[in-house]
Amino acid sequence: MTMIGDKLQQVQARIVTACTACGRDPQSVHLLAVSKTFPAESVREAASAGQLAFGENYVQEGVAKIEALEDLRARLQWHCIGPLQSNKTRTVAEHFDWVHSIDRLKIAERLSEQRPAHLQPLQVCLQVNVDGGINKSGVDAKDALTLAQAVAEMPRLRLRGLMAIPEPAPDFEQQRELFLRAAAVFEELRAAGLGVDTLSLGMSADLEAAIAAGSTMVRIGTAIFGGRPPAAAR
Ligand SMILES: *Cc1c(COP(=O)(O)O)cnc(C)c1O
Repeated sequence: MTMIGDKLQQVQARIVTACTACGRDPQSVHLLAVSKTFPAESVREAASAGQLAFGENYVQEGVAKIEALEDLRARLQWHCIGPLQSNKTRTVAEHFDWVHSIDRLKIAERLSEQRPAHLQPLQVCLQVNVDGGINKSGVDAKDALTLAQAVAEMPRLRLRGLMAIPEPAPDFEQQRELFLRAAAVFEELRAAGLGVDTLSLGMSADLEAAIAAGSTMVRIGTAIFGGRPPAAAR
């Protein structure tokens, strides 16, 4: 067993334990391995251990890895989880399978227009801002339904759900309380008849609280690939 293979097993075990603790089916939580800052060879190692869904924050870095692993392209699923600027939407629409970070109409419109016809529709989540931080990306919770209804109509996008990244909270209960705000918006979308199935919540430090709040996809980097240098040092 390789080191990354070991770590993947440990994370899967955490997911099972967290599901058991709150009476959920472990199959209802998908694991997205966040490979940002790690080389294509680490992704290859994870893929040979059976992990097929990968998340990247930085568009150019992600595309370089997608191209380096072209031989695995049909098996892998690539998720763009970082903030998106207008000038990057074409690259994302041409290379990724999923986007978690749609926070405004214009970005969604561009992705839909730019998604190539030979690919299946881009699978998308809206990023929702649940703690009101003005500098944080994400649509305000009160505006999420309106944006979701517009995105659901776009021909080359398929709306799958919501993603949120709350501020780090010191303990389980406070983490869960923030995640529950995202879960409430998700329920609002479902109640409005949008067929959403994905609630992308939880990272290495707080996946248990996210699962307790209803997460269906945890995005895990550090616990699989190890620590990253601080952003400023990259
Ligand atoms: C880096 C990142 C993750 C993974 O974080 P870890 O704490 O390393 O598990 C998840 N989601 C997003 C949006 C990220 O940028």
